[in-house]
Amino acid sequence: MNPSKLFSNLKRSFRQTVKSQATLQANPAILEAASILRTAKKVAVLTGAGMSAESGIATFRAKEGGIWKEFDPSEVATPDAFKKDPHKVLAWHQEMRVTCQDAEPNAGHHAIARMQELFPEVIVITQNIDGLHQRAGSKFVLELHGHLFRMKGFCDAAMHESASPVHCPVCRGCTSPRIIWQPEHKDAIVEFTEIHLGEVPRCLHCSGPLRPDVVWFNEGLDPYVLDAAWNIADGCDVLLVIGTSLQVQPVSGIPWRAAYKGVKVIEINPEPAEATGFWSVRIQACSALVLPLLLKLINNE
Ligand code: NAD
Ligand code: ZN
Repeated sequence: MNPSKLFSNLKRSFRQTVKSQATLQANPAILEAASILRTAKKVAVLTGAGMSAESGIATFRAKEGGIWKEFDPSEVATPDAFKKDPHKVLAWHQEMRVTCQDAEPNAGHHAIARMQELFPEVIVITQNIDGLHQRAGSKFVLELHGHLFRMKGFCDAAMHESASPVHCPVCRGCTSPRIIWQPEHKDAIVEFTEIHLGEVPRCLHCSGPLRPDVVWFNEGLDPYVLDAAWNIADGCDVLLVIGTSLQVQPVSGIPWRAAYKGVKVIEINPEPAEATGFWSVRIQACSALVLPLLLKLINNE
């Protein structure tokens, strides 16, 4: 099944889990979340694939229509897959780009962007790579898993094991130690964004292959980005955890540690995550319904 068909199937399946706004309005969990948020100054929002489900973008693990039920990650989203068949990997990412480009931010993304008018600080920490928070107007978005529409140099772990390569200062891919930065190379610094099928894009400085700037399976997160996420979550008053199954380490530890530091942690998810023991409030419903309603309640409308 191609990704566009997959995503329209998903739209159908999430409709069944949606609860009506009228039912939710009287839900004690929502009322409690609104009352916690009314006193907050610093709000952090940790989002996962479920945040974009109502924009028509499939989550990874949904029983029906989940991306990895249809595609084998080892063939399209690992460094080894890129080494074996970069064209296949680039074609898959190009399809994902088309899907994400055609999608629109949903009412939940817009509600989070509008929170910037209500609270002195709102920072989004997202596992999503679709750019929908930014398109909705959120100004501070930390992308834990990168960005689908950006490219970076390919770094080959095997090359690190056998030699001592350096990182290219332009694309961050690994390259030969002989390729060192010279001021006249500044023309090589261009923003690589396009994927043209049939060719592997190359860095203008080191000529190394370029790949999508997203975190694949068997790869670690950027330690600086992760460190920033821990600090933001630990230092906020309220952490909203939206649309994530919290099955991916180390992100799953973020709400747990924030709660330990005294942060109120609120979950919004139609199927609550398995993790327990640290939630202040759990709202079992879809984010595009809950978030606008929360805004109304915070404003006493
Ligand atoms: P996941 O697939 O493991 O979990 C998705 C979660 O969203 C589930 O808990 C599900 O119950 C919940 N959900 C489904 N519909 C929802 C809705 N309408 N409102 C609120 N919640 C809803 O995804 P994950 O926890 O984000 O982690 C897996 C990885 O998925 C991340 O690495 C992320 O990069 C990647 N991903 C991103 C996108 C995207 O950018 N839009 C899409 C698919 C996967
Ligand atoms: Zn380079």
